[in-house]
Amino acid sequence: MHVLVVNAGSSTLKFQLIATDLEAMETDADRRLVHGVIERIGGHALVRLRQPGKARQLRETPLKDHRAAIEYVLRWIVSEESGIDEVRALGDVHAVGHRVVHGGQRFRQSVRIDAEVLHAIEDQVELAPLHNPANLKGIRAITELLGAGVPQVAVFDTAFHATMPDTSFLYAIPYSYYRRYGVRRYGFHGTSHRYVAFRYRKLRGIAREAVNIVTLHLGNGCSACAIKGGNSFDTSMGFTPLEGLVMGTRAGDVDPSLVTWLAEKEGTSAADVERMLTRQSGLLGVSGLTSDMRELLAEEREHQDRRVTLAIDMFCQRVRRYIGAFLAELGGADAIVFTGGIGENSPEIRARVCQGLEWLGLRVDPLRNEACIDGATGTINDKDSRLAAWVIPTDEELLIARDTVRVVTTGDPRAR
Ligand code: ADP
Repeated sequence: MHVLVVNAGSSTLKFQLIATDLEAMETDADRRLVHGVIERIGGHALVRLRQPGKARQLRETPLKDHRAAIEYVLRWIVSEESGIDEVRALGDVHAVGHRVVHGGQRFRQSVRIDAEVLHAIEDQVELAPLHNPANLKGIRAITELLGAGVPQVAVFDTAFHATMPDTSFLYAIPYSYYRRYGVRRYGFHGTSHRYVAFRYRKLRGIAREAVNIVTLHLGNGCSACAIKGGNSFDTSMGFTPLEGLVMGTRAGDVDPSLVTWLAEKEGTSAADVERMLTRQSGLLGVSGLTSDMRELLAEEREHQDRRVTLAIDMFCQRVRRYIGAFLAELGGADAIVFTGGIGENSPEIRARVCQGLEWLGLRVDPLRNEACIDGATGTINDKDSRLAAWVIPTDEELLIARDTVRVVTTGDPRAR
């Protein structure tokens, strides 16, 4: 099957075309035919395309909305120019998988989209006003362009965390807010944590139920997940993706009374303070320089800027805090797993996160750690380590494509 994976953001569209089926999944023979990112939708859009074995392409074109962007992508895929010979007509796109940020309490796994599901996704807009509307635009554009006959599947960022017990997902505020409005921890990055846990069990050759690990997704957004018996038991992101770890521009955990205090002090609104916590905080806010970890590490090497070091150290210490907390909640685990842009590519950050964790049995092997970059998978602990540390590159799009195939062909998204 040719599956188009769509991740529609507010002014961006990420997409991949993946050829896969139940057999290909078994042998990891899925093929990625193209992946691309479109930025600045609504104006002069920037289109980046990558195909295996070909040079990257970058082009500019006016795209007025998500529908125009998706139309552009589909036209290009079926054109001579793309060189994707097996997809020559729109009918050769067999299914579409959408990343949907918020599934609320309703969606515990990936589902085929029909009118009722679409309504239910609309119902979650209140919980994710920044994200779900864009995802919905993607779904509607596909229906218009490919027709209602092409199956579409929604894969939710929150779904993996649906297994959290109430002791993990509730906030210690009056219970009535949970009942009335669904105020609770939902957790995000679920597709990434789930994919990494899946890869871990395949690599180790163990059953799903035997997976007891702490996964660390460290990218622009960052979150940790305590996985018990293969299921999410706790996670660092909460009601929104603002809680938890220090991120590129997000503060992570802060004392909530800061919001009113700062709003009063600065004569602004709570919404303004929330925007500050979301867009001007984290690595950017502390360093005063950039949200990009690679740039911070380079700056630290060259100029030994105190606030740059502070930002990086706070980032690492917060990750360490969650590792400790989650290992305690799980009653111990077999491994911690690094993933995401930083987790997959920065031996330096991994080493700094693990520094001082020898007491709990984690010893990093410097050579192995240095070797795990650029998409490499492996362990980075030394042979005497009681706790393993892995680097496993995430691949949310692949999981979305596989869920799509499984839902469309068997009705069940769970991998065996
Ligand atoms: P997102 O959460 O948006 O998917 P990514 O997973 O792509 O983000 O992660 C982006 C982050 O990864 C950026 O902060 C980037 O600087 C960082 N990163 C990528 N490569 C490296 C590297 N070699 N060293 C340190 N940080 C890196």
